[in-house]
Amino acid sequence: MKIIVSACLLGENCKYNGSNNFHQKLSDFLKNYEVIKVCPEVMGGLPTPRVPGEIKGDKVINQDGFDVTNEYQKGALKTLEIARQNDIKIAILKSNSPSCGCGKIYDGTFSKTLIDGDGITTKLLKENGILVLNEENFMDYLK
Ligand code: SF4
Repeated sequence: MKIIVSACLLGENCKYNGSNNFHQKLSDFLKNYEVIKVCPEVMGGLPTPRVPGEIKGDKVINQDGFDVTNEYQKGALKTLEIARQNDIKIAILKSNSPSCGCGKIYDGTFSKTLIDGDGITTKLLKENGILVLNEENFMDYLK
């Protein structure tokens, strides 16, 4: 089975600050699966490193006050396209991210305050019938 996974969880230095969120347990687990790595923010045209963004209402605003909604949406659409081309049913995406977060995201104030909600890519994948998990809960769903 093919699974889409946030590239930063597998060690790719695509995080906003130029580092990654490598997750050893997830990386080990995925040895049994065919993995397609994605970074929606990079795929949407944003550089690395980049100014972090947070969702505010129906927009994504970066910490400098610029509207980066288009880039986030473009990355989400590209991820969905990859999912469709590969008949993907499951994605494991990085928690809390404005692109990849699932269930919890930051509240738009850059104060590390979490609220209920999904990242832009997660929302689009879910709307298209894809099960979105994260690095904290994937073991509850996959064996
Ligand atoms: Fe990781 Fe997703 Fe952020 Fe890219 S957009 S760095 S894959 S959390």
